[in-house]
Amino acid sequence: MTDILELLDAAGLTGRGGAAFSTAVKVRAAREEGAAVIVNACDGEIGAAKDGYVVEHHLAELVHGAELVASSRGRKVRYAAHRGSATASTLRRAGLDVLETPARYVSSEETALISLASGGLARPMTKRKPFVYGGRDSDGRAVRPTVVLNAETVWRVAQVATHGPAWFRSIGTREEPGPRLVTVTGAVQHPGVLDTEAGTPIADLLDAAAADSRAEHLVIGGLGGVLAPVAAARALAWSTAELAQFGGSVGPGIIDVLDPHRCPVAVVDSYLAFAAGESAGQCGPCMFGVPALSAAWADLLDHRPTPARVEIVRARAGLLPNRGACRFPDGVARFTASALQTLRPHLNAHRDGRCPSERTSGVRSRA
Ligand code: SF4
Repeated sequence: MTDILELLDAAGLTGRGGAAFSTAVKVRAAREEGAAVIVNACDGEIGAAKDGYVVEHHLAELVHGAELVASSRGRKVRYAAHRGSATASTLRRAGLDVLETPARYVSSEETALISLASGGLARPMTKRKPFVYGGRDSDGRAVRPTVVLNAETVWRVAQVATHGPAWFRSIGTREEPGPRLVTVTGAVQHPGVLDTEAGTPIADLLDAAAADSRAEHLVIGGLGGVLAPVAAARALAWSTAELAQFGGSVGPGIIDVLDPHRCPVAVVDSYLAFAAGESAGQCGPCMFGVPALSAAWADLLDHRPTPARVEIVRARAGLLPNRGACRFPDGVARFTASALQTLRPHLNAHRDGRCPSERTSGVRSRA
């Protein structure tokens, strides 16, 4: 029987949680290090629902995939889910070892899960090298080798074992092979999770969910993703190569169609206000930088978005990347930059004293 590592190598499966790292490389390291396995079913990104979908509809295959990753030597497998979520209940009812995390944005980050599983807080940890090799937390406590894989990734491992790499590569694109889930949410008649593949026209995904035809903007990839115009996105395929046009990627597989009756500047304001409240309070850029960015964006909404105010937002976003212990601030900076770019006409209209989404109070007050 062919070893699962060879099958994963041949299939070219990459992580479905957002980072798109080679699953074969990760699983090989985990096997060599005797690493504990955490299956991340938290759906931690804004709008995400696909981990819950996998647990609800493909639990037996998920468990099989986790067993294949853990292999022998009695390695421990735990399933991470937000505390009090339906996903956590389903996993517990199935008799699985559930690692319950606080329902906060950064609590489902990979190193935050490892910290929690090691008896620490559900907060991201600085890593000198991947924790699959073990390491120490910020208090100097030893952390045993642990690998974290997204629930969809683990389900796909089982599918590769069952159907083979040729089947897997017959779906998707050469660069992004295999089936993949996309959550379509927001201003759609049929919100939910679609089992699709890279290369599918985004227009098909929006039509399948019956997206509001008046919608003008969407968020691809949640808070760590990008804001894009619907008209331009409809002309593209669901692939990282094409989404790069907006600075985006297929990432964690989320499309949030924004309500056409709601001012998109106000939507971005709510995203950034959420981000400001989600910092784990460990790193400067996150503790001070994200709230400062959120405040600057709120100024664009509350006052005329003059070039000087827009520049303050751009400058504060520019201070965030590559400075936190985790990539949370980087994602917020990317999201903000895309919003500034996409909403330029909308911001110009606000500057002229009107909101194109005039059905709501997009412009709350004037300076
Ligand atoms: S960047 Fe923010 S979320 Fe990430 S570890 Fe630092 S404080 Fe926590």
